[in-house]
Parts: sequence; structure tokens; C-alpha cells
Amino acid sequence: ENLQQSLDRLKPQLCQLASVDAQMQYVVERFQLGDNEKKARELLVQLLQEVFVEFFPDSQILPFGSSINTFGVHSCDIDLFLDLENTKVFQALAKSTTEQAGEAMSDDGRSEDSILSDIDLSSSSTNEVLELVATILRRCVPSVHKVHVVGSARLPVVKFHHQELNLQGDITINNRLAVKNTRFLQLCSGVEDRLRPLVFTLRYWAKQKQLAGNPSGAGPLLNNYALTLLIIYFLQNCDPPALLTVDQLKDMACEEEECVIEGWDCTFPSQPIAVPPSKNTEDLCPLLFGFFTFYANFDFAGSVISVRKGRALPITDFLSQNKAEEAMHEEKPTKTQPHGPKLGPLILLDPFELSHNVAGNMTERSHRSFQRECQDADKYCRSLQYQRKSIKGKSWGLVRLFTPHGDALRAKTEQLTISIPFKLASLPETLRNELHMAGDGFRLLWFQKVCSAVEGVFKNVLRCDIAPSTDAVFGQDSVVDAAGEMETSLNTSTNDSFDISESQDTAVVGAKRRLSSGSEASASPQGKKARMTKMRKPELPHWICAHKHMVWAGRRRVRRELIKDTDCRPEGSCMELEAQVTDHIIEKEPELKETLEFKVQPQMVGETESTKTVLTLEPTSDKTGVFHDLFHFLEIFLPKMVETLLEKEAARA
Ligand code: ATP
Ligand code: MG
Repeated sequence: ENLQQSLDRLKPQLCQLASVDAQMQYVVERFQLGDNEKKARELLVQLLQEVFVEFFPDSQILPFGSSINTFGVHSCDIDLFLDLENTKVFQALAKSTTEQAGEAMSDDGRSEDSILSDIDLSSSSTNEVLELVATILRRCVPSVHKVHVVGSARLPVVKFHHQELNLQGDITINNRLAVKNTRFLQLCSGVEDRLRPLVFTLRYWAKQKQLAGNPSGAGPLLNNYALTLLIIYFLQNCDPPALLTVDQLKDMACEEEECVIEGWDCTFPSQPIAVPPSKNTEDLCPLLFGFFTFYANFDFAGSVISVRKGRALPITDFLSQNKAEEAMHEEKPTKTQPHGPKLGPLILLDPFELSHNVAGNMTERSHRSFQRECQDADKYCRSLQYQRKSIKGKSWGLVRLFTPHGDALRAKTEQLTISIPFKLASLPETLRNELHMAGDGFRLLWFQKVCSAVEGVFKNVLRCDIAPSTDAVFGQDSVVDAAGEMETSLNTSTNDSFDISESQDTAVVGAKRRLSSGSEASASPQGKKARMTKMRKPELPHWICAHKHMVWAGRRRVRRELIKDTDCRPEGSCMELEAQVTDHIIEKEPELKETLEFKVQPQMVGETESTKTVLTLEPTSDKTGVFHDLFHFLEIFLPKMVETLLEKEAARA
């Protein structure tokens, strides 16, 4: 189901309700986890508990996250924490008793059978333990599939899928803080009734606008936990406040509730009853509006959002505090958390782990979209359409708020183009002659030269991993063939090119259709090219490029360093220098967390006079959200570099 379809199904019910408040309550009812779902999850937890305790004596499996934090929606994942603290104690005891008795481990019946005898929890790495957890899941839990360890995440995790329940699950170890912050969200939800409708509405809004809610929680978007904290922070800042700060809540806790995890104070009351109700009595409709206004105008660049203090800390304070901390750690190098929170466009501190920015992986771009969507929503909420039911049966209230954003929709299959115009006059003499000699096929010959120059820039200048081109158009032989074909068809219009948004298969089918329809399109070279392509290989020509480094960032500085001001050649004028710049960046700068992969598809479009090569770039894997930066760099860099290469080739000839 896509975003629009999801909204279409929701729309009739929402439109007939009487108020935005009722609409928000409806969103909760529609999406919240049902009792059966909760029961099924509980049973799965029980089953896992029984299995794990066999292998890890005294271990405990604790659910956390949206399955239990009251904000879970149908089919949300199940997050589990495998607590091995007691198992470690058990293992240590077993070890010391066997040592004392001078017996080998295998004499101890329990440890002989146990898979645990293969591993010493006190000395093994997280990933080793997780591998073991994965093995147990694979072998011993029915209906569990697709088990794999993701060791590279901030918190390494075992992922699995429960087929019967159609449920995605995550198991972490070392994640006691998440269990605690889940309790905190539960508390907030219990203290403030309006939180759930706000969270459900805003989570759905953010999903529709593609701002949040990617299933893995990773990537450049706002994760659901961070979004929930933003809502809590907003409620703390209403006038009068609708929620207390974490510091205030701490003061309401009793002695038994005091809790410190990994050095962080996690004290707060366990029961909502301990917290007095707030004086804020605003309805949901104005509160939602208030959320958008609040973040539409928020100074993200200058603030560190603290849910603990319930106010924004000036970023400057924070930087000096960071320095002080660094200095402290120099003295104590053993401490495992040498860094303050990751800086970024949105700094939102965890309520407990105060050195953790929960929105740390958000990119500039996704942050900009978030604030822009808040601004748009704020504007919309001022209209009567938001506040009042339409008497003409038109969309109103939440419906229009939930309409997927055009930009966001496009971003999903984003294709950006760079065009390199065919400028005969600007070409060097030798190349011009060569092209003339190619007769009517000169456009195609030029296209082929541009393609190989582009490939050269990607491969030799930007050093990207590039999958070999597979299609006819790139090969010398086929260019000759194609040139032959071209001669007969050059006089006809070449305007219609492939619709690049079609999938490869349908593009071919589309081309076929055009061919057999007998329209003028069938005479176009593109049509013929399609037929040829079809005969050779049913694929449009393209390269798949991969970058592990941000070779586009900071080039100017590196270039300046390399040439030490002795040379004032501008960017893109010298291939060797540019290749050196790339090498320097690859050597010195850290790798991207995830490889950027994108597709480049060249096409020749336009009439004889206005022929150009259009490169369509489309990210195929951009988990770190850097594709846009690369694209903006290429837009300028690539045409210049291609020109340089063509000139060079001509000079060689
Ligand atoms: P959903 O799974 O529906 O997206 P969720 O709240 O379960 O919502 P997850 O991404 O599955 O979100 O995270 C599970 C839990 O892990 C969160 O509820 C929170 O307790 C903790 N968590 C998630 N992301 C972070 C983070 N960036 N920093 C700290 N804790 C986090
Ligand atoms: Mg979850």
C-alpha cells in the first residue's frame, strides 16, 4: 500500500467525524496495536524466554520500544533486550567452583550441555554473543526466519522475522537504557492523555511526508523515538506546560525508584499517579497546531534540545562543556564514552543518556524537509479548512494535513539529470573533422565519445567502483552498427526519447508498442535503438556506480593544498590534479557508513541542432543521504571535466 492509498482508505472515516479532536482519536483507534496482537507478542516473548534460559541460565528477555510504550501501531517491530547480567554471574560462579574443585568444565553436567560452555561472556565481544543468539534463534525457535546479525549499528542487533505472526524482531544485549526510556514514555503517556493522540497523529503525518518511520530506524530520517521526544519537549514548553521536565519528574520519585544505568540518572516515578495533572487544558486540535508553529519557528541551529531540562540549551554552552569533557577524558583515557553528542542539524538529547543525540544521523536535507513541512502544516492549520468540518463534503482537518507531499513522493524515485550540450563550434578542430567524417552518424559518434568521457571521469577521476557497461551503445562495434541505422533515420524527429521513469522492461515494451503502432515515433532512432537493444540485451544502457568516500566534499581545500598556490588552474581543468584530489580524500577522510550506489543512464536527445547528452542519475542505495550533495557537485563538475577530456583526446589525435 503506498502513501496515497493509505490516505484514501482513511479519508472517508476522517471526513465524516465532527472535529479534529475526534479525528485524532480515530487515528489512534485505527492504528494502535490490538489486544490480540499484544497477546501474540507476549506469547512470543514467553517462548523466547523459555528458549534462551536453556542456553543462558538466569537470562531474561525484556520487550521495549513501540510494542509496549503505548505508541505501537499494527505490525510495528518487536524490540527485545536480552539481559545477560545474571548469566554472567552464573558463569563466573560456575568457573570459580570448577576451578576450586580442580575439575574440567565438562564434568559440570549443566555447562557440558550448554552452548554457553563455548563462550565466556565476560571476555567475548557483543558480536560474538549476538552470533550465538542468532544460532539459537535459527535452531530452536519455530517459525523464525531471516535471522542475521547487524554488527555495524550503534547498538549491534540480531534481526529476525517471525513468519507466523508476520513480525519483525530485533534482539539487543547491552540496551538497558532503552528499556528504561520505554518506561519513561509509558509514564508520560499515563500522565498526559493527550500524548497518545498527538504521537499517533504526528507519526502518521511524518510517515506520509516521508520524514520519519523507516522500518529499520536507521538512515537519515527522523526516527520515531526522536519524533516522540520532540512532541514531549513541545508539551513541556506549552503555556502552561502540559508535561513536566525529566528533572521535575525525578523529584517526584521515591527512594526505591532511584536508578542509575551506565552512569546516567534514570530516576522517575514508576506510576502516573505520583505525578499531579497539568494545568494545561487545551484541546487536541490547537495542540497539534501548536506543535507545528513551535517547530516551524524553532532555532534548531542555535539550540540543543533537552527534554531533561525542558528547555533549549545554547549550543555555545554546550560546546564548551564538550571541551571540558574532552579534557577530562584525556586524563582518564579508560572511560568508554569519549565523545559528547554527535552534532548535526538537529540536536536532541536523550532524556537519560545525556551525551547521546537521538537525531544524530539526520542529514541537513531531511532536517530541512522536517522544518519546511512544519511550516506548511502551520500555515494550513491557520485555515478554516483545518479547523472546521466541510459542509460540502470536501477534505478537511487531518485529511489535508496527511496528503503526501509531492516533493517527498518524487524523492522516492528521484531522478536528476545533467545535460551536456552538443556544441560543434566549441569542439577542437580535429574532433570536428573526425565527426564530419562520420557523416550523418556524427551525433552518435559524439554521444559515444561523451559516454566514454563520462565513464572516464567516474572511473579515473572520481575513482568510483563502476560496473562495466553492458549495453550495445557503449561498444565500438555496436556504435558502427548503430551509426548505420542512424543514417537512414536521421532526418526524422528525434524528440521522443524513452520515458526514463519506466522500468527497464516496460521501457522496452513501450518502445515496442511505439514501433508497432506505426506512428512517426516508430521511425525515430530511439525506437530503432530500442529494437536493437532488445535484440542484444533487454536493458537500457547504464552504469552502476558506487562510492565509499565523499570524494565530492572539500575538494577545493584539498586542491589548494596540493597545488600550494603555484598553479591557478580552475576546477575541472586538469584530470591528473583532480584524480590526485580524489586520492587524497580517499586516503585521509573516513569512509561513508554505507556505500552510496547510483545509476547513471546516458541518453542522446534533441534534434540535430540541439543534440545533447542527458545523464539521468538515480540513487539505488543512499542510506546516508548524500546523493544530493554528490549530484550538485556533478552538475558543475561533470560537464567541465567531460569537456576537458574531449579536448585532451582531440589534442592527442
Ligand atoms: P517503531 O518500531 O514503531 O518505529 P519504536 O519506538 O519501537 O517505534 P525503534 O526504532 O524500534 O522505535 O526503537 C525501539 C526503542 O529503542 C525505542 O522505543 C527507544 O526506546 C530506543 N531507541 C530507538 N532509537 C533510539 C535512539 N536514537 N536513541 C536512544 N534510544 C533509541
Ligand atoms: Mg520498534
